[in-house]
Amino acid sequence: MIKRILVVEDEAPIREMISLVLEQNGFQFIEAADFSTAQTLLSEPFPDLVLLDWMLPGGSGIQLIKYMKRESLTKEIPIVMLTARSEEEDRVMGLESGADDYITKPFSPKELLARIKAVMRRTSPVIEHESISFAGLTLEPDSHRVTADDEMLVMGPTEYKLLHFFMSHPERVYSREQLLNQVWGTNVYVEDRTVDVFIRRVRRTLEPSGYDKMLQTVRGAGYRFSTRF
Ligand code: CA
Repeated sequence: MIKRILVVEDEAPIREMISLVLEQNGFQFIEAADFSTAQTLLSEPFPDLVLLDWMLPGGSGIQLIKYMKRESLTKEIPIVMLTARSEEEDRVMGLESGADDYITKPFSPKELLARIKAVMRRTSPVIEHESISFAGLTLEPDSHRVTADDEMLVMGPTEYKLLHFFMSHPERVYSREQLLNQVWGTNVYVEDRTVDVFIRRVRRTLEPSGYDKMLQTVRGAGYRFSTRF
């Protein structure tokens, strides 16, 4: 299904850059350069995601988030904030009001896409059966097939489940305990270090393609699947 994105940004060059990236990557988009246009566009057919700039003519990003969260038809729509480097407080406030993620200006098309995909994946459970791709790494839940640059990878069922979990929850850190619960289940007794063993196996499988770098160790916290390395 084609995803429709609402771009709320008053600076025309940024809006054009975003629109171009979205168009080239098969997204539909609608644009608003001010607060009231954004409000008007938050109606049928609803966007699947909103990219939201902070300072807008006619109102702030925070106000728009609050407006969206009040309405039952818009409160579930994921929001990615576009913020300037200096607006640390705005970011915190935005995340607290219900934004799903933020991206700092200036950003690259690649970063923008990665963020959009990560948020969509996190917020739409219905895509369980759709294939998941990051760079050249693709996982197809229907056939249990994993390919790296079109080369089929052979992996055991637990390795597959682990990779599937990570690829459907990218850019987030999970502790060993969380991974055990998610992948092995809560009523199975396995030691924490089992996770490390399976992470190593998945990495070994991904190593020839270089995608093992996506499966990252976060010191003192756990593991994360990320396209940023
Ligand atoms: Ca602005």
